[in-house]
Amino acid sequence: MAGPLDLTVAEAAAKIAATELSAAEYFESWREAAAGDELNAYLWTAPAPSGAREKLEGTLGGVPIAVKDIFCTEGVPTTAGSRILEGYLPPYTATAVRRLREAGGRVLGKTNMDEFAMGSSNENSGYGPVLNPWDRGRVPGGSSGGSAAAVAGGLAPAALGTDTGGSIRQPAALCGIVGLKPTYGAISRYGMIAFASSLDQCGPLTRDVTDAALLLAALQGRDPCDATSVGIEGRLALPSREDLSGLRFGVPSLAEEGVEAGVREVFEATLQRIEGLGGEIVEVQLPSAELGISAYYVLAPAEASSNLARYDGVRYGVRRGGDGDLLEMYETTRSEGFGAEVKRRIMLGTYALSSGYYDAYYGQAQKVRTRIAEDFANAFAAVDFVVTPTSPSVAFELGAKTADPLAMYMNDFFTVPMSLAGIPAISIPAGLAAPDGGGAELPVGFQIAAPAFAEQKLLEAAFALETAIGFNREHAAAIPWKGVEEDG
Ligand code: GLN
Repeated sequence: MAGPLDLTVAEAAAKIAATELSAAEYFESWREAAAGDELNAYLWTAPAPSGAREKLEGTLGGVPIAVKDIFCTEGVPTTAGSRILEGYLPPYTATAVRRLREAGGRVLGKTNMDEFAMGSSNENSGYGPVLNPWDRGRVPGGSSGGSAAAVAGGLAPAALGTDTGGSIRQPAALCGIVGLKPTYGAISRYGMIAFASSLDQCGPLTRDVTDAALLLAALQGRDPCDATSVGIEGRLALPSREDLSGLRFGVPSLAEEGVEAGVREVFEATLQRIEGLGGEIVEVQLPSAELGISAYYVLAPAEASSNLARYDGVRYGVRRGGDGDLLEMYETTRSEGFGAEVKRRIMLGTYALSSGYYDAYYGQAQKVRTRIAEDFANAFAAVDFVVTPTSPSVAFELGAKTADPLAMYMNDFFTVPMSLAGIPAISIPAGLAAPDGGGAELPVGFQIAAPAFAEQKLLEAAFALETAIGFNREHAAAIPWKGVEEDG
């Protein structure tokens, strides 16, 4: 039976505004749902409201939202999935979270994630892996795996994530929900714990495209606290487009590479749907995009090695060892506080930046980044969008790739190029497919990328396609968040 927890954010906010739904009762129902978390999706959940009058006006009036634990929240534990920040209470709140609150949203909890957002499976969290609600033996994707699992598993109506190389889109794909990475600079990064600052961008994980648009409208905008934030010009409207006529969708040749058979089938079927809606499919060339992974895994670790230098046991979180010896204290704190993947990235990044190697690695990777941005610019001269599968595979088994970092990095093959180019991209659920090697069917994501700041156009196309696919309707019986029943 459909209850309030079945509503989308847009529907719930409308009902609350019309006083057909009590915001207090609605929040309480979600709090109970979140308290029953069996997926390890949450690291912290909100206590019962103190009774203080809450702001209910705004487009998100009264709607609870789960927030990735990478966003600083004043007085609320913020760990970025790392043991080194255990017990850290930020003295201020991230702009993105503040904006959600200003639009009437309420923080429901802080979600689990790969440590410092480094990972594609959530197995790099210092607080244990998150389980995929479709199959608890499988990963939810990463690094925003807690946010994706919470939304997909019926533990939150929507969530905030961050995406540096795919961390919103890939877990959204693996969990069967919508994930939007906006243009770099659309949303403020102030108070978002930095991984690779030239790539990090915040965005929504939601049940549908309309909710993604609703959250983006609340989040976007210039912020004096982040000089790289510019916002999106013009008013963002909720998408309503029903067809794709007159729009050209570019399929790069790399869309075939290393893709599971089932994922490829769903991808092909989605291209046919686009044509059915009047869209045109054209081939495009992105000759440098296949170097994306190599460039990203030099640039992101290089920036991380510098950003993570601040965790020295002096200013934040945990301090270990030392006994009066400062250097020894740094060493013990960092070697005990950071997990293996974070240490790997710091070492790779420091090496890539070291004198004598800088030009060969960092400089070279920057050139590839420029080439990739040029590839997209050339493609967008001929097409409106570039489309690919979001992830080469459906959700894989826990532990399947932990011993092989390169196999893990290949998850990001289709999402990293857009991050390097700074352009917006969305993943929408396009169907179900069995993994290579067999097993029950799992969600497949379809990625659509657009030119910088063309979010409105991107959301319109995604909406038309989403409506035609009807994923939430067609697969209602299998969708975990649809099965969540309220008590009473
Ligand atoms: N999986 C990629 C990485 O490990 C992307 C992470 C992200 O987008 N934060 O770096």
